[in-house]
Amino acid sequence: MLKSDYCGDLRAADDGREVALAGWVHRRRDHGGLIFIDLRDSRGIVQVVFPPEESAARAVASEARGEYVLRIEGRVQRRRPGTENERLPTGEIEVRASRAEILNTAKTPPFYINEESDVDEALRLKYRYLDLRRERMHENIVLRAKVVKYIRDFLTERGFTEIETPVLANPTPEGARDYLVPSRIHPGNFYALPQSPQQFKQLLMVAGFERYFQIARCYRDEDLRADRQPEFTQLDLEMSFVEQEDILSLVEELYASMARAVRPDLETPAPFPRLTYAESMRRFGTDKPDMRFGMELVDFTQLVRETEFAVFRDAVASGGSVEGICVPGGAAFSRKEIDALTDVVKQLGAKGLVSLAFAAAPDAAADDEMRSPVLKFIGGDVARSMGRVAGAGAGDLVLIVAGQGGLRAKEAGSAARVRPALDALRRTVAAKLGMVDRDVLKFAFIVDFPLVEWNDDEERWDAMHHLFTSARDEDMALIESDPAAVRSNAYDIVCNGWEIGSGSIRIHRREMQERILRLLGITAEQARQRFGHMLEAFEYGAPPHGGFAPGIDRTVALFAQESDIREVIAFPKTKSATDLMTGAPSPVDPAALEAVGLQLRVPKE
Ligand code: ASP
Repeated sequence: MLKSDYCGDLRAADDGREVALAGWVHRRRDHGGLIFIDLRDSRGIVQVVFPPEESAARAVASEARGEYVLRIEGRVQRRRPGTENERLPTGEIEVRASRAEILNTAKTPPFYINEESDVDEALRLKYRYLDLRRERMHENIVLRAKVVKYIRDFLTERGFTEIETPVLANPTPEGARDYLVPSRIHPGNFYALPQSPQQFKQLLMVAGFERYFQIARCYRDEDLRADRQPEFTQLDLEMSFVEQEDILSLVEELYASMARAVRPDLETPAPFPRLTYAESMRRFGTDKPDMRFGMELVDFTQLVRETEFAVFRDAVASGGSVEGICVPGGAAFSRKEIDALTDVVKQLGAKGLVSLAFAAAPDAAADDEMRSPVLKFIGGDVARSMGRVAGAGAGDLVLIVAGQGGLRAKEAGSAARVRPALDALRRTVAAKLGMVDRDVLKFAFIVDFPLVEWNDDEERWDAMHHLFTSARDEDMALIESDPAAVRSNAYDIVCNGWEIGSGSIRIHRREMQERILRLLGITAEQARQRFGHMLEAFEYGAPPHGGFAPGIDRTVALFAQESDIREVIAFPKTKSATDLMTGAPSPVDPAALEAVGLQLRVPKE
């Protein structure tokens, strides 16, 4: 080793020790007589002082620049009283250098490494190895390793076996497009990178392992967002002879204890509430609610059934709904602020936003103490009732969205059109008013998802989770007559507005799997081709089983309090799925294409 100690490990107890250190020049200060270098390595920073008496070492120090790689030898000493640095764990001591050597020089980095500044993301990604030197990124990656270790220990202690599954596989449907890999040995044939190890983990249950997990890479070719990458990592787990509650309580214990272990400074209320999908949609307008604040949705549909305001009346008459939220203190919002909120709901397909401000509590409000562009149409009495139902007080603002029903809306639930808008509105207002407590992790489970949802474009039913998910026994009778009403045994874990993971109790009998495949419009022939191995496996004593798959990237982002998973992935891709550092994806040698029997027909821009 070129070093006896790590810079960041030295403490007052090391006073007097001779040490050898190696690391990067974080900062250099030349005080004429003395030169100070903050030397950084993977464990932290220590101050090294180069006094005039040590002229050779001092000469090296005066040559060194930011990010040079240095090796020094010296003695640990306490800092002079009054010069300690409380912000550094090593701040009580410094190292007095007696020898120094430049192990490598460095060009001036394209951005500051020793301070947290706003750097263009493309530049950060191109020089990711420099970006990762920065403290915040370094800590995020270390946190990620802690999370993964915690999970491994937790599950191993509970009798889980870690098993790897193939990356070159056949498609497993999770609702995204597959990444394909052409086979050279079988020209014209392709592997699909797994969207998840779903089929393999179920087959491991048939194989008798009973408790499996894997820190698994998954690949999905879909539109990218802050919480999506083309490749991402899941904690994939599966258990046999369990019911839904067994899995939820295991995952609850894992997440509650892990949160306390890695972020003891954050509050993680447990047990995690369990909300049905229907309840979550009704109260929050989404199946991944942010429960750190209130402003739950209020349903005005019945109240405005008879109103003269055509937008409300028509929405109700067509089977749609009229819903809203009550913003505490929102009566003070300006026209401009309300216009901005109107844009938020319009982006999610709402036609508009109706505001109703209360200068006095609804019960006592005279007509001129309520302000709304639609007051004269809905009338004072309906306005007061709306305020009352919404729980408004003096100074509050009720914001309302109306959505038409219609043919498809029936299948999707009559509120399908207003709820996404109200969910966005609720989150926007909460952020605007500072109602979001950053130091709380509000986990919840969402249960009783519908088994299927109607796919407008393809005119067929799609599995809401995936096609291996079982339905609730008591709803099975409806499966052919009213598929939309069938609840599944699928569940999600959510936290602070993020979907962290999904899972389900699976189908383990062939007839049942065939019935669901039929419902999804998959012919017997297609079923045999794509899932024949699963159907066959179910005939060899497949045990009842179920599992879960929380996302590691999202979990770490949550613990790191980052809003984009790229901040917790060492080498992520951009939102257009490119790697700016290595240049992937890139053209390949024509010979390589030939070898796999491919010819390109790239559409012109
Ligand atoms: N394979 C599922 C997913 O990736 C999770 C599961 O059902 O366990 O979402």
